[in-house]
Amino acid sequence: MKTIPLRKDVDEALTWDLSGLCKDTADFERQLQDCQAQAEKLKSDYFGKLDNAENLIAAIKTYADLTAKMTRLGTYSHMALDVDMANAENLSNDARFQTVYAEILSQLSFIESEAKGVAQSVLEKVKEDATCKGFVDEIIRNKPHMLGAEAEKVLKALTGNFMTPYKVYNQAKFVDLSYPDLELGDEKVPFDFVAFENSYDGTVDTATRRKAFALFSEHLAKYQNTFATALNAQMQQEKTIATLRGYDSVFDYLLFEQKVTREMYDRQIDRIVEDLAPAMRKYAKLLQDISGLDKMTFADLKMPVDAEFEKKLSVAESKTYILDALSIYGAEYKDLLVRAYDERWIDFAFNQNKASGAYCTAPYGGHPYVLLSWSGSMEDVFTLAHELGHAGQGHYSTMHQSIFEESPSLYIIEAPSTLNELLMANYLLSQNPDDARFKRWVISNMVGKTYYHNFVTHLLEAHFQRACYKIVDGGGSLSAADFNRLKLATLQKFWGDDVEMAAGAELTWMRQPHYYMGLYPYTYSAGLTVATAVNQKYLSEGESAIQNWIEVLKLGGSLPPQALAQRAGVDVSTDAPLKTTIDYIAAQIEQIIALTEQLNNK
Ligand SMILES: [Zn+2]
Repeated sequence: MKTIPLRKDVDEALTWDLSGLCKDTADFERQLQDCQAQAEKLKSDYFGKLDNAENLIAAIKTYADLTAKMTRLGTYSHMALDVDMANAENLSNDARFQTVYAEILSQLSFIESEAKGVAQSVLEKVKEDATCKGFVDEIIRNKPHMLGAEAEKVLKALTGNFMTPYKVYNQAKFVDLSYPDLELGDEKVPFDFVAFENSYDGTVDTATRRKAFALFSEHLAKYQNTFATALNAQMQQEKTIATLRGYDSVFDYLLFEQKVTREMYDRQIDRIVEDLAPAMRKYAKLLQDISGLDKMTFADLKMPVDAEFEKKLSVAESKTYILDALSIYGAEYKDLLVRAYDERWIDFAFNQNKASGAYCTAPYGGHPYVLLSWSGSMEDVFTLAHELGHAGQGHYSTMHQSIFEESPSLYIIEAPSTLNELLMANYLLSQNPDDARFKRWVISNMVGKTYYHNFVTHLLEAHFQRACYKIVDGGGSLSAADFNRLKLATLQKFWGDDVEMAAGAELTWMRQPHYYMGLYPYTYSAGLTVATAVNQKYLSEGESAIQNWIEVLKLGGSLPPQALAQRAGVDVSTDAPLKTTIDYIAAQIEQIIALTEQLNNK
């Protein structure tokens, strides 16, 4: 019988090569000690001496260099852990990094504290230096919320501890939580969290899909109290920091970081839950009709509209799709994509104890890395296009901005990635423009995957998350029963009577890691709103829209998200782009319905 392989048994060609960051644990330790020495020297050179521009510039520049080195080491240790969370060496390196990182942050917290007290005229002078500008801007912006030097030092020393809820979540989910095989008739197939989310969640056979969902939920439920304790702790510690730093609410604290107004945040959640729900219920009804189901349940929503086109693709085939679809970006971008494959920047392997989902990190001074678990579906190709969108963003911003300004606000972080999914859909549509069935398959992939994931799955997480934070903000705390109740209420509000909430739907809050990253879930819909507008520009104006978008990517985080969107020609000061996007999704669903009728009447 087949089993899910251990990390040590997977094909090396499918794994990423981290040697550009660290060769091995000994090299990791040596680099870490170099950073410790550099931090000590920085402190002994400048502690108590940052009252003038010259010293401040020199200290910030050294700090920038050190931060980049530490970012690369942190990227190495957490990525190595993510592909094998049960590995003792990986766990030890990651813990070691957290300890040293917190130690250095605490030791060097004096730079921010002393800079805060420096005269405005000196800060203005320091800002003229390109490396220092972003650092100083943040000092000025954060001044009203900064605590005394000793308090800041203590908080920085606890940095690693603040990560504990997320670490507990990951260990419980990917190491402790184990599944028995899934029994399909006489056959037993290996099953785990990633296998469910990558395959069985959207499998076309209804009996298999529902059985998989029941098995998935039954075992997930056993950890609901562990997960709930971790998630409540995460939310409580954010509330504590918000209060200590003098924010009116935990929302104000988390949105301040993103440079986003409460109105921009609430608008995404309220408009989508109200205005997109009718269209998505229609989509659910269509899935039900096509499959001839007696009822539509929560376990059926990921079904494909037309399974016939769901062919298996190899990694090599994915490269052709990616290069062809994204070639409109030009030679520099294409070179990046080729290198991503040829130099093993991507971890395709599917193995035990590996993080689920997909992500991309682009450490400053290094190249981007992508994690996913390749199952060979067209959905994986879209996921790759998505993650390589983050890679492109990271490439341009780290090339053109200082480490303090390279990262854009979370509000817009999902725009480059989701734009690539839309470009992939454009490309596929152009391949067979006159084939109605193929056209329906592409559009339904866009609606059922890209828009579903970003405007429904993540947005409903955001709706649930907001309800949780409101309770925490009012001084309350949350248990597993509370999380289940709130998640179910969100799902029922959106799907109404059109989708039956299968037992286990209430546990959906246990599936995503984004709750450990602040107000992240809503940003997927914000990013895709901007991406949809940019794609419309591309379709009407041509490649100049894409070249302009590259210029926006180069700006990194040097502008707030609203100004960045403006540079891309999208005005998010009002809800107009969001309304246009919701109308666009509704129109795509109508088109799938019309194409289905056309195909049925043939
Ligand atoms: Zn993303």
